[in-house]
Amino acid sequence: MRVPDRAPALPAAVRTRLEAGTHSVLIDTRALERVRDRFDDDQARALGRFLANAQSPNTLRAYRTDWTAFIAWCLAEERTSLPADPVDVAVYLAACAEARTPDGRWALAPASIERRAAAIAAVHGAHGLESPTRAEVVRLTLRGIRRTRRARPRRKDPVVLATLESLLSHRPPEGHPGGIARRRDTVLLLTGFAGALRRSELAGVTFDDITVRTDPVGGATTLVVELGATKTDQEGRRGHSVALPRGRHRHTCPVCALADWAQVRVAHLGGGAEAVRALLVGTSGAPVAPVHRCGSLTAADLAPLADGTGRPLLVSVSRHGALGVRAMTGQAVGDVVKRYAARAGLDPDDFGGHSLRAGFATQAALGGAADREIMRQGRWTNARTVHDYIRSADPLDDNAVTRLGL
Ligand SMILES: [Zn+2]
Repeated sequence: MRVPDRAPALPAAVRTRLEAGTHSVLIDTRALERVRDRFDDDQARALGRFLANAQSPNTLRAYRTDWTAFIAWCLAEERTSLPADPVDVAVYLAACAEARTPDGRWALAPASIERRAAAIAAVHGAHGLESPTRAEVVRLTLRGIRRTRRARPRRKDPVVLATLESLLSHRPPEGHPGGIARRRDTVLLLTGFAGALRRSELAGVTFDDITVRTDPVGGATTLVVELGATKTDQEGRRGHSVALPRGRHRHTCPVCALADWAQVRVAHLGGGAEAVRALLVGTSGAPVAPVHRCGSLTAADLAPLADGTGRPLLVSVSRHGALGVRAMTGQAVGDVVKRYAARAGLDPDDFGGHSLRAGFATQAALGGAADREIMRQGRWTNARTVHDYIRSADPLDDNAVTRLGL
């Protein structure tokens, strides 16, 4: 490792030992611990305390992750990471800005890319090296990334009630095999909408998470869905549950939808594809009775499916009606919404899994729900997010422009 002699930030002996340590990416408290025996205790303690407090533990952790990513890139590209050539750093940052996740979104936000640059600068600084990020080529690259990416990602359109009705009207007909996808997609759309679920939450629901309850006031059957913590939000959402009450109409009733779908799944569990065929063949051409079936749904109807094995609520359904075993992915959930949007003559790019959750907030706001009520079901902790939905739902609501007397 080449370390120039000018402006050493630390005594050479300390620096050497730090660099020998496995955590020498930045000035590391654990590494300092190891050099303690070489120095007077008080000296080492004083130095260690100030260095340790120079950056917050979170920043240090983030820098270490970012630096590791840079080293990995340098190894793959056969470039030197320390000291790094400014042009290499610029190329690296541009690659970061181009990276996409498997579902096509940007892998890194501009702020994360800036942090990667800051980490590279910090490590160079810690080694007494001039930072390559000061070079014009790096500064211009970062500016270009900021300008290019400034455009906000297009928000998915909400599926409001009218849209939902339109999507539902494009389901395949009952019967076999269309009834299988029809029933699954009904559950997917109505549960996602009524539960204000994120697509990952919808994909993650298992039959074990669903409880059948009787509404203490009206006596109607209500479903309660427990949501597990997901990796995007390890705090906050643990132990959250959403209630799915009986719908006003049979065809938009989440509880009836679950009863219909559970019937298919129980048949499949007991007798495989043949049993599913036998169940659905008779329903072919018959219009769905406008009478709710959810009143007679009990926990016993779901018991074979809720056997503690974490059986996913939503599984894949092939074109020929074969049921998959594993849970649908969040992306597959979003694709279903897109597919129906396309069938309904809407631009599928405007819709996705988030449209159901956004649609819940928007429709609830249009229906006059208070922020607090919307936040409860949607588990929003920030009223501003909900206000955004409300504002886009009805631009004249709570707006002084209506009081101008024009
Ligand atoms: Zn019902």
